Amino acid sequence: MGKGLLIVLSGPSGVGKGTVCNELRRRLPDLVYSVSATTRNPRLGEENGVNYFFKSREQFEEMIANDQLLEYAEYVGNYYGTPRDFVEATLQSGKDIILEIEVQGALKVKSKFPEGIFVFLLPPSLDELKGRIVGRGTENQATIDHRMSVAADEIGLMENYDYAVVNDEIDHACHRIQSIIVAEHCKIRPK
Ligand code: 5GP
Repeated sequence: MGKGLLIVLSGPSGVGKGTVCNELRRRLPDLVYSVSATTRNPRLGEENGVNYFFKSREQFEEMIANDQLLEYAEYVGNYYGTPRDFVEATLQSGKDIILEIEVQGALKVKSKFPEGIFVFLLPPSLDELKGRIVGRGTENQATIDHRMSVAADEIGLMENYDYAVVNDEIDHACHRIQSIIVAEHCKIRPK
């Protein structure tokens, strides 16, 4: 049995990674989702173990010390990280797994899994991105400003990725990513 594909969906906050990822999971029921650990507080409706594993800073730092994370990043005052064992076990079992993570973390994954498929999700424009973060209504002004300045830096790192997908419409964005996954499965790789 071949190994599954490691697909990393990344891009600036507010670009719609979460929405696109959820829709992809709906369309591709066999695609496994990597649930991240974080120290940020749950938003309304979020569940532990489903959206994230919600941890205290002490618990998160223990996971770092025990090398339980494939990557982690500190993002706007909180830790976010990918539990390592689950990703490795999923790939070994031959299934594809998708990680929905921010840009610094994605680059760390690339250094460990260069064979991964790195997809950068782009907003149609920076103005549109700001509108989406404001519209979500979950962030205060300081956080919005911080996220926007991080976003501009992140877009500058796009050249490290394999694919760029504009999230103009959810259906189009998902269709493009599904096509990428199909193409990657058809790719001839050296043994
Ligand atoms: P949010 O607080 O909006 O859920 O997530 C903030 C950012 O953290 C988003 O860009 C999200 O993709 C990213 N993120 C979520 N999980 C992880 C993770 O495990 N590792 C890294 N590096 N970033 C993550």
